[in-house]
Amino acid sequence: MITKQKGTYDIYGLEAKKRMYVNDILDALCQKYNYSNIITPVFEASELFHRGVGESTDMVQKETYDFKDRGDRDITLRPEGTAGVVRWFIENKMYGNMSDPVKVYYNMKMYRYERPQSGRQREFTQWGFECFGSDDALADAEVISLAYNAYRLLGLDNITIKLNTLGDAESRENYKVALKKYLEPNIKDLCPDCQERFNKNVLRILDCKFDAENEILKNVPKINDYLNEESLNRFNKLTELLDLMDINYVVDDKLVRGLDYYTHMVFEVVLDDSYALGGGGRYNNLVETLGGPSIPAVGFAMGYDRTMQMLDEKGIEIPVNDDVDVYLLYVSEDEKETAAYLAQDLRLNGFICETDLMSKSLKAQFKSVDRYNSKYLIVLNDKDLANDEVVIKDNKTKEEEHVKLNDLVDYLDMHM
Ligand code: AMP
Repeated sequence: MITKQKGTYDIYGLEAKKRMYVNDILDALCQKYNYSNIITPVFEASELFHRGVGESTDMVQKETYDFKDRGDRDITLRPEGTAGVVRWFIENKMYGNMSDPVKVYYNMKMYRYERPQSGRQREFTQWGFECFGSDDALADAEVISLAYNAYRLLGLDNITIKLNTLGDAESRENYKVALKKYLEPNIKDLCPDCQERFNKNVLRILDCKFDAENEILKNVPKINDYLNEESLNRFNKLTELLDLMDINYVVDDKLVRGLDYYTHMVFEVVLDDSYALGGGGRYNNLVETLGGPSIPAVGFAMGYDRTMQMLDEKGIEIPVNDDVDVYLLYVSEDEKETAAYLAQDLRLNGFICETDLMSKSLKAQFKSVDRYNSKYLIVLNDKDLANDEVVIKDNKTKEEEHVKLNDLVDYLDMHM
């Protein structure tokens, strides 16, 4: 037997319907914020992730699916959405007229070669969005507002935004120098990953899960003390806007996020003060790093699968079911043709309709009616059809009514 690959999963039936329902909510919300949908290719040139985003990030080092295609090209399956969207933005010269921002959202599969565990798959979905062209705190606030309200609209109300700023390049460089100076005498006491990060991306030591309780990390210098005036003002403006918008946030000066393309604001969406469901931030240099002009941008990515899992664990009901509206039974082969065209007619008029495709006995067809939990059933027979009518039965109340074939759609419209 061929089985599914490690870290992948099949989505079927009610689970798939739940996702469609959640997608509809998220699509509608994104459209209210005037974001357009984008779908980028699953595979891209490897250099998009390996050069552009920076070799020092954890994800790039360990987690991508890289391979050579038959044309000897270096290919990578997208591990995140932002780089592909930025590639699209540059390739299509979307920056041509930046008098208004370019705002897009996506719902796409991502691929990371991770050790599969709860909440970590090798193929997973991220729902995310990006806003190009504005360097204003108002754009930061809009992105945070969209992320925050998406979870709340889905019914996850105990949501907190963890917020931090990494400042501009000058502030960040000053901070990195101070951090290195502070950590250097004690670096041997930190975990091997942190020792490696010390030279490659010292900021990432701050959010090391392994060393979180280590006294050395508890007393590190604070980024706040190294922000220049512009960076500080911008962050203060953002928190003012979030206060005004009544968004529940806390400032966490250890939050740096995994990817090193972030500048200024970074944030994470946390459920019940502990569970990270997504994250994002401002990335003012990435468009330029990937070969475009200098265009500021800000974005967010939701871990969609974890969000679905949380909806489930919290018992938040998603109103979907597999029920059928009308089941068409037939007494003999003679009524099969009527079943075929009538089923099509009802379906095209908006009803979920089933008929027997297995040439079952009438008794077995009745069993299917219950299995499909059909609201109505119609037993097609030559006597009724000769009068251009059917007998429709409500499967719950067991009430029956004679209805002319021409009036059937109206009848169902009135009763459903
Ligand atoms: P990141 O792109 O790493 O910032 O991740 C954003 C969100 O995507 C995380 O908060 C997770 O909820 C989700 N996520 C990241 N990696 C995985 C994975 N391997 N499997 C499932 N969800 C993931």
